[in-house]
Amino acid sequence: CGIVGYLGHREAYPIIVEGLKRLEYRGYDSAGIALFDGTDLKVSKTKGKVVDLENLSEKEITKHGNVGIGHTRWATHGVPNNINSHPHLSNSGNLVIIHNGIIENYDSLKQELISRGYTFKSDTDTEVLVNLIEDVQNQEDVKLGKAVQVALNQVIGAYAITVFDKNKPEEIVVARLGSPLAIGIGVDEFFIASDASPFIEYTKDAIYLEDEEMAIIRKNKGIKIRKIKDDSLVAPYIQKLQL
Ligand code: GLU
Repeated sequence: CGIVGYLGHREAYPIIVEGLKRLEYRGYDSAGIALFDGTDLKVSKTKGKVVDLENLSEKEITKHGNVGIGHTRWATHGVPNNINSHPHLSNSGNLVIIHNGIIENYDSLKQELISRGYTFKSDTDTEVLVNLIEDVQNQEDVKLGKAVQVALNQVIGAYAITVFDKNKPEEIVVARLGSPLAIGIGVDEFFIASDASPFIEYTKDAIYLEDEEMAIIRKNKGIKIRKIKDDSLVAPYIQKLQL
């Protein structure tokens, strides 16, 4: 199971696909990618290997865009199939998420969301989380980062997540508890991955998120790291990669 994300000026697709291949050692059953192509959000996913994703027909996959997230899934909730593969969209279609880990209280959260009119396409715990984030946004009229924080404080489980809003594609929000997440910092570009291997040739500057931390990554404004629980700011600790 792995996560790769890109926010910058390059084509995201080759970085994400190559990155997912470098994370294959972690094991997985499905692969998927979401790209913002300047106009719209395109999601492509499939059961199988990263190479199966690459081999999808032109109709099934868009390979263009400077903002994107990619995922290899190791199924915990819902069988390995195309629909349960990540990325997952919220009901409005605005939010897109990838997630490694488990949302243990997903069922009670899901019932609550269903009672408020949400519907679900997949059997995953992850689709519950992305709709929970959307629900917080709708109820409290807060920005994405705050909505992610409020939602995660209702979650029991383990996660590394990467999420963005197609209406605000210059910003990506990431968070971790129990699953690894590294952020590579380039010049006006950012990389996100389960470990540094997907971005090592692009930058040697990396932040390893600690458990219970989240980061809001903005294209021209940099990174803000906060503690998920108490909202306190954390000074980013940038490591020089030696690889
Ligand atoms: N629990 C999620 C799912 O089953 C994520 C699994 C993973 O870590 O890849 O879809």
